[in-house]
Amino acid sequence: MRVYYDRDADVNLIKDKNVAIFGYGSQGHAHANNLKDSGCENVVVALRAGSGSIAKAEAAGFKVMLPSEAAAWADLAMVLTPDEGQADLWVDDLRDNMRQGTAMAFAHGLSIHFNLIEPREDMDVFMIAPKGPGHTVRSEYVRGAGVPCLVAIEQNASGNALEIGLSYSAAIGGGRAGTIETTFREECETDLFGEQTVLCGGVCELMRAGFEILVEAGYAPEMAYFECMHEMKLIVDLIYEGGIANMNYSISNTAEYGEYVTGPAIIDDSVKDRMREALGRIQSGEFAANWMLENKVNQASFKAMRRRSSEHQSEEVGEKLRAMMPWIAEGRLVDKSKN
Ligand code: NAD
Ligand code: MG
Ligand code: MG
Repeated sequence: MRVYYDRDADVNLIKDKNVAIFGYGSQGHAHANNLKDSGCENVVVALRAGSGSIAKAEAAGFKVMLPSEAAAWADLAMVLTPDEGQADLWVDDLRDNMRQGTAMAFAHGLSIHFNLIEPREDMDVFMIAPKGPGHTVRSEYVRGAGVPCLVAIEQNASGNALEIGLSYSAAIGGGRAGTIETTFREECETDLFGEQTVLCGGVCELMRAGFEILVEAGYAPEMAYFECMHEMKLIVDLIYEGGIANMNYSISNTAEYGEYVTGPAIIDDSVKDRMREALGRIQSGEFAANWMLENKVNQASFKAMRRRSSEHQSEEVGEKLRAMMPWIAEGRLVDKSKN
């Protein structure tokens, strides 16, 4: 595995370019602000007329352009709009407006790997994908550190795609932590697998199941929330810092013994078989196709699932308990009015 650092990148390459950041959401605000703070003077944010993000981008001091205008202006278009709308953005605004020999970049491989976008041959196409949420990409940069990034080159028409990508990664803080070389396929399939089966799908279902079982058994919902949800962060922080062994060093022997005897009985081979099936649906394109079809019906079932998820009893209990711990909100990563 090849890893690049700041010393392998020429940060001046990106400073000389017109960089248009499409979208000013989780990733967009982080990339735009980090580029600016790294000395990139020609950064604009591209947003649709009427977008709720315009005020946030302007408040941070960015010039905002319409997507079609920004496409014609840009040497590099960084596409940080939601994956499900990127194919339309390409056809409506980028494909016919971007100049010959320019570059298009992504923070996730879905649109390119599953051929939702078929890029022009004269363009560079690469990925700089931070391995963390946008709000962390920003907060780590401000702290003087960075979130590790992946770099992948899909088309290298200029012959310089990797150098430009590494320069961009350095400017957003990726070069401080390390920029790891991969491919669009590997990034896309492992990212989808991780978020679906472990990080978002797996962990959230596990926490909610634990909460529900304790509440069904007659325990106080507040206790269920503390034991199955709130404490997750304390455990994950220990793993983040030094791996599972570091967590085991810190927890009680009772907790550690319980982990060894009960954990494998819960996450058993049947769970692993279903995780393999999920990987199969990702690799075959079935997941990507279903997600794009869902968007053709205005996300009807996605929105229903989101509403039901937000109505779960644990949300209400959690809100009440977090209000008793005001330090949690201090220095919070997400401030919906700004980012
Ligand atoms: P987001 O939903 O937070 O923000 C999307 C932004 O795009 C908003 O500002 C919205 O107004 C704007 N937008 C929507 N359609 C647009 C259009 N047609 N033209 C211009 N602007 C438009 O998105 P996000 O979560 O930051 O995801 C962006 C990309 O980054 C995706 O490819 C995603 O997979 C990838 N990514 C996200 C994260 C993350 O932390 N959220 C992590 C790694 C990679
Ligand atoms: Mg992802
Ligand atoms: Mg306990």
